Amino acid sequence: AGVVLALSLSACGDDDGGGDGGSGGGGAGDAKIGVILPDTESSVRWEAADRPAMEAAFEEAGIKYDIQNTEGDAEKMTALADSMIGDGATVLAIVNLDSASGAAIQEKAAEAGVLTIDYDRLTLGGSAEVYISYDNVKVGELQGQGLADCLGDKEANIVYLNGSPTDNNATLFAEGAHNVLDGMSNYNVVGEQAVPEWDNEEAATIFQQMYTDAGGDVDGVLAANDGLGGAAISILEGNGQAGKVPVTGQDATVEGLQNILAGTQCMTVFKSSVGEAQALADAAIALANGEEPETTGTVEDAEGGRDVPAVILDPVAITKDNIAEEIQNVFADGSMTYDDVC
Ligand code: BGC
Repeated sequence: AGVVLALSLSACGDDDGGGDGGSGGGGAGDAKIGVILPDTESSVRWEAADRPAMEAAFEEAGIKYDIQNTEGDAEKMTALADSMIGDGATVLAIVNLDSASGAAIQEKAAEAGVLTIDYDRLTLGGSAEVYISYDNVKVGELQGQGLADCLGDKEANIVYLNGSPTDNNATLFAEGAHNVLDGMSNYNVVGEQAVPEWDNEEAATIFQQMYTDAGGDVDGVLAANDGLGGAAISILEGNGQAGKVPVTGQDATVEGLQNILAGTQCMTVFKSSVGEAQALADAAIALANGEEPETTGTVEDAEGGRDVPAVILDPVAITKDNIAEEIQNVFADGSMTYDDVC
C-alpha cells in the first residue's frame, strides 16, 4: 500500500487543471457543422472528452454546430443525419456504428450537397472528404508493447479482448497488438475474442469464459480500451488475481488512470480529444469554405478501393512510469480534474 500511495501522490501531486482550446481558424462564414457521436456506453470519452473539446473548438472558430449522440442506434443516426441536413448543416461528421450504415448516411448527405467527415472511425466503402483520427495501428502496438513490458521475459498465457467487430479501429488495434506480441515466442495466446459494440458487461462475460476455458491460467490481458480492461479487472478481482495479471487499456479515462495508480492496470493510451476536435474544426471550416482540408497523408479504404485524405495524430502510452508527467497532459485536455482522479 505504501508503494501505491507514493505513486498516487507523485502522479497526483501537482494540480494543473484547466484546458486550452487551442487556436482556431478564421473565416467560418455560414458554416454549420453537425456531429453525431456513437453512444455513451462503449467509452466515456465521447461525452466526457470529445463533446466538450468539440464545443470549445467550434466556439473558438466561430462555427455553428449541433452535436448529437445516437446512443448506439444506427437507425437513429440516419434520422439525426436527415434532420441535421434539413436544418442546413454544411458539413456532417459522424463516428459510425458500422461501415454500412455510415456509408449510406454519407451517400445521402452527398446527394443533398453536404460534405462529410469521418471522425475517429473510418467508414469503409464510405465517401467522407476527410478522415480525422489517431494512428490506430500504433495504438495497438503501444498496447502490445505495454503488456510485454509488464509481463517481461517469462513464459506467459495471454488473452485478447478486442473491440467491436463493426469498428474498423478495433481491427487496427488488434493488428497493432499482434504486430508486437506475435513476435514474442514466450507468449502463448490462450484466447481471443471481439466484444460486440464494445459492451462492457458482455466483455466481463466473455472474459470470464476465456478465463475458465484456460483453467484460470491467464497471465496477461490485451484489452482494447479502459472499459474492456475494467471488465477483465473485475473478473480478476473476483479470483484474487487483480494486480497480479497485467491488463491494458485505452482512452486515459478516470477509471483507467485510477486502475494504473492502484496497480491493477498496466497501461492506457492517451489520445487528446482537444487535438482531435481541433483537427475536426479546422477540416470543417476548410470544407465549408470550399478549400481542401490540410492533411497528414491518406489511409487506404480497401473496401471502397480508395485512399482517403486523412489527419492522423500520434497516441501516447501512459504507464506507472510516466503517469506523473502524462496525467498533467490529460488534465490539460480538460475532460477531468485532479479531484476526479486523485
Ligand atoms: C475509439 C476508442 C474507443 C472505442 C469505443 C474506438 O473507435 O477509437 O477510443 O474506446 O471506439 O468507443
